[in-house]
Amino acid sequence: MSEVKAIRVLLVEDEAGDAHLVKMKLRQTQSGHFDVSWAQSLIEAQQCLAAASFDVMLLDLSLPDSEGLATVHSARAMALNTPIVVLSGHSDTDFALTALEAGAVDYMVKGDFGYDGLARVIRYALLRTEMEARNHLLIAALEAAANGIVITDKDAVVIWANPAFSRLTGYSAEEALGRKPSELIKSGLQNEAFYQAMWADLLEGQHWRGELVNKRKNGSLYHEELSIAPVKNGAGEITHFIGIKEDISERKEMEQQLQKLASTDPLTGLFNRRVFLERLELERAKVARLRHYSTVLLMLDLDFFKRVNDTYGHATGDAVLKAFADIARNNSRAIDVPARLGGEEFAILLAGANKKDALTMAERLRRQVAEIIIEHEAGPVQITVSIGAAVLLAEDIDGEAVLHRADAALYEAKDRGRNQTYWSCF
Ligand code: GH3
Ligand code: MG
Ligand code: MG
Repeated sequence: MSEVKAIRVLLVEDEAGDAHLVKMKLRQTQSGHFDVSWAQSLIEAQQCLAAASFDVMLLDLSLPDSEGLATVHSARAMALNTPIVVLSGHSDTDFALTALEAGAVDYMVKGDFGYDGLARVIRYALLRTEMEARNHLLIAALEAAANGIVITDKDAVVIWANPAFSRLTGYSAEEALGRKPSELIKSGLQNEAFYQAMWADLLEGQHWRGELVNKRKNGSLYHEELSIAPVKNGAGEITHFIGIKEDISERKEMEQQLQKLASTDPLTGLFNRRVFLERLELERAKVARLRHYSTVLLMLDLDFFKRVNDTYGHATGDAVLKAFADIARNNSRAIDVPARLGGEEFAILLAGANKKDALTMAERLRRQVAEIIIEHEAGPVQITVSIGAAVLLAEDIDGEAVLHRADAALYEAKDRGRNQTYWSCF
């Protein structure tokens, strides 16, 4: 036979008749096994509590050494973790409520136990105490969580928020209560379509997850990863939403830095060869697709750059490369792609430009390079650049084709005396 664990009851009751009735009721019940210890005064109850532990205390309020509400207070102090069910001689609702406020979990009128009533009240008291302890534990876990957690009602009004939410947003839980997160932290950087898509998922009962930029109380912006789960009642209706927020600002910043490192040349800050070739391929495809679209490729190579290094040193050579890069950057529009392909070889993709615009731009750039003066103790350092230009053609099968034409034009510019722009004849 499997042993059902007995519920240990401390009965504090000075009247033998009443005590006998309680013991009898609990012995007769079908719902569980009760192990009753009987104390006839508070002092005796204290001795019992010192000697053993109990699941529940049944407490008569009129005892030889205590009377009324004071009995509840004293018993509560003696047995902090044991739920107390008050047994009273009179059925006075107001008094019952006061007893509950004083810390009792339930209240019963003696003689009103009915069939199994007492056992049921004890079971509920235990269940409620267990649930309260569990709630307490869960709330402690939510409050200790590193992620911001916010609970809203179905209209997105905040009803609870943890300390991490306050650390993240700058709003205390009190400030957030009764308000919508959108009123507090919306940065305006996501468009309406973003929020509409989010709400469409949520109102369908789906979990939503995404990254967004929000605004702290002090006005500063931060990146957060937000996960929202709708909570439904037994009828399947959404009653609440739980939002979990992680501050991903650092990660975002790192991603941006990595992205920059992976796409730019460290010395000049211009795009690197990889990005240049990707963009060249996109432009080539666009030229092949669109009849009136034109793009020009400039290949640029500094003239006699080796001499700069040899005469003034590598550091001065680097300073020249940077000064050249500044001019290339300043003469480019946002859609252009100025890049360092390697060494002192550069290229600029002039997206959407025709031959005439490109020539104007190339000549302006060439003149500005000739005006660069890098100060050196051995005297001012000057430099010129040769430029080969070629138009992307609809029949180019890959980027190599136009690179080859521009390279040949550059070679021709060098051959004709340098410091000039030469157009590919093809
Ligand atoms: P040309 O007019 O025919 O282009 O002559 P050049 O001297 O410019 O050409 P060459 O290809 O002979 O020399 C290029 C030099 O660029 C050689 C190399 O040491 C130098 N160089 C390449 N990368 C760097 C760099 O990152 N920093 C510095 N300071 N020099 C570099
Ligand atoms: Mg050179
Ligand atoms: Mg060279």
